[in-house]
Amino acid sequence: MSQITDYSKNTKYIISDKSDYIISDKSDFISESFNEILQNHKNKKICLISDNNIWQNCKYLFESHLVINDIKLIIIKNPICNDNFANYLSNKIYSYDFVIALGSGTINDLCKYACYKNNLEFVIFSSAASMNGYLSNNCSIIINSHKKSINCKSAIKVYCDINIIKQAPIAMIKAGIGDIMCFYSCYFDWYLAHKLFNYDFNVNAINLIKPRIDQFIANYSKYDLNNNELYKLICEILMISGIAMNMAESSAPVSQSEHILSHLLEMKYKDKVNNLLHGQIIAITTIICLNIQNKILQNIQDDSSLINNVRSDDINLARNYFGQDLFASCQQEYSSKISKINNAKILKFSNNDIYKDLSKIFTHNDKIKDIFNFFDINYDITNLNIDPDIVNQIIKNAKFIRNRLTCLDFI
Ligand SMILES: [Zn+2]
Repeated sequence: MSQITDYSKNTKYIISDKSDYIISDKSDFISESFNEILQNHKNKKICLISDNNIWQNCKYLFESHLVINDIKLIIIKNPICNDNFANYLSNKIYSYDFVIALGSGTINDLCKYACYKNNLEFVIFSSAASMNGYLSNNCSIIINSHKKSINCKSAIKVYCDINIIKQAPIAMIKAGIGDIMCFYSCYFDWYLAHKLFNYDFNVNAINLIKPRIDQFIANYSKYDLNNNELYKLICEILMISGIAMNMAESSAPVSQSEHILSHLLEMKYKDKVNNLLHGQIIAITTIICLNIQNKILQNIQDDSSLINNVRSDDINLARNYFGQDLFASCQQEYSSKISKINNAKILKFSNNDIYKDLSKIFTHNDKIKDIFNFFDINYDITNLNIDPDIVNQIIKNAKFIRNRLTCLDFI
């Protein structure tokens, strides 16, 4: 039985005004960063946490700093972001005063969780531009087979050394691009939920990310996958996405239907998608969701009963699909969505007004596919290695796993 504390019920994100990041391609960046870290954390017992693969690749840049400064190295072998590893790490760092992490998605999430649990601050050297959770005060951890978003605390500073990040496999930056390109799909879902059912919506979070995404969409064809300026822009969008999540006090600005699909894939078909990075999956699910949004947009003006499409008893049909344990936790999520919808003050709106707003937000599949094609990012559904009928089942049932209202609720 897992000993992990589930903070997911505590939906309030802690907004840390200390969160900070620096992106650099200077050759002495690591030395300068260590000087800064040690200056700010004098006389503390410090450890550095990484995984075996990342450490092998980056050892030559970090090892001397650890020896000189008496920093203990903790290597986690082939970590997975689940309750077992989170608890293991939490016990490992118990006796330290400060943590330096070196890694990306998994190490970052595990450190966020373990440091939060031990009330420790940490900084992270990012090893890849593959995901947007570096500065968000939540982490994704699999607890008892259900992927949960848990409230915790981000690194107080992220050090993005472009020279390290460029050493990561090319699939990582492609995954990073896959993950950031869901922005407009998220914006659409979030705005729709806000307009129809009065879901909280934070325009400042959108306005923080949107100019950088638009800059990327307008300029992507100037870059190739080896260009430092491309890496800097992607890193900045990934960092800012985390800050936007904290502003919105949820992952809503960058995680909607496409992430719900990805979570269900990871929950139910882990063996099939294990070899894909998070952003690789998001590239595929974003294209699926933009397609669904296109259909909503086409029908919205004729459909006076959009609100009535969300039905509370739907979930009973999914009992066999999820199996006993998962069904119970889905039931909780879905009933909290239904009660939120039922309690929402249904705003008076005209479908025509929503159509006008959403058509400004909506981004056509083709535009995103052009970007994916340019960087040779595979968005084809066959890349999931899952039978199309099974993918259709995932699309149909994904709305039950999360209390967030998205385009998936209108299929
Ligand atoms: Zn993501």
